[in-house]
Amino acid sequence: GLSPEAYRRRHEITVTGDDVPPPLTSFGSSGLPSEILREVQNAGFSAPTPIQAQSWPIALQSRDIVAIAKTGSGKTLGYLIPAFIHLKRTGNDPRMGPTALVLSPTRELATQIQDEAVKFGKSSKITCACLYGGAPKGPQLRDIDRGADIVVATPGRLNDILEMRRITLNQISYLVLDEADRMLDMGFEPQIRKIVNEVPARRQTLMYTATWPKEVRKIAADLLVNPVQVNIGNVDE
Ligand code: ADP
Ligand code: MG
Repeated sequence: GLSPEAYRRRHEITVTGDDVPPPLTSFGSSGLPSEILREVQNAGFSAPTPIQAQSWPIALQSRDIVAIAKTGSGKTLGYLIPAFIHLKRTGNDPRMGPTALVLSPTRELATQIQDEAVKFGKSSKITCACLYGGAPKGPQLRDIDRGADIVVATPGRLNDILEMRRITLNQISYLVLDEADRMLDMGFEPQIRKIVNEVPARRQTLMYTATWPKEVRKIAADLLVNPVQVNIGNVDE
């Protein structure tokens, strides 16, 4: 295999932060749990994508991370697979509230994330609820009440459900802001800040974005603690 430096050069990976662990360049040597490797094999994946290879070992050290990579680069499993491992480590009971929260800008994207969580989390017995607007609240509330390890939500609908006091975020210790640039473009910043205020400060926060403009840097500076930054390719600002 390639050295960590050669792998990063070949895939245009740049990292900023202290003692950044080397990328996990293959599934075979990854040390990922067998139930996760089984799902990855079922999906026919031959290797981690560069953003996965570099962000998994950082996320598995429970560090905050900013990952900047273009659409289609495999960011979803970049944060979901470490989420599954985090869930296993905490051993939390989902009936006490979710442990992982993923914020996503749209219903369509939230649904895709949930599908990926259900598919790849099956062998790990992960439960998931998906909350988005433009659909009745009843079935979503029922999924919360059944107990979900992971909640995937658009900021607007999650705020509505928080105001109804039908969900508690006090067990969240793994928070993902997916497509952060798009969420800010859509004007979700006030809702995101309200939600984050309900999440314990003692948590791991991961931000995934396709671009890195100053609004995204500002919210990253406010919500993340000493993050490792990973860029794949050129970064648009
Ligand atoms: P992004 O969030 O960066 O836009 P996605 O997470 O939606 O990208 O992934 C894009 C596609 O790549 C999805 O269909 C996903 O299942 C697939 N994919 C993810 N990881 C891998 C991998 N390691 N090998 C092959 N395909 C993958
Ligand atoms: Mg994505």
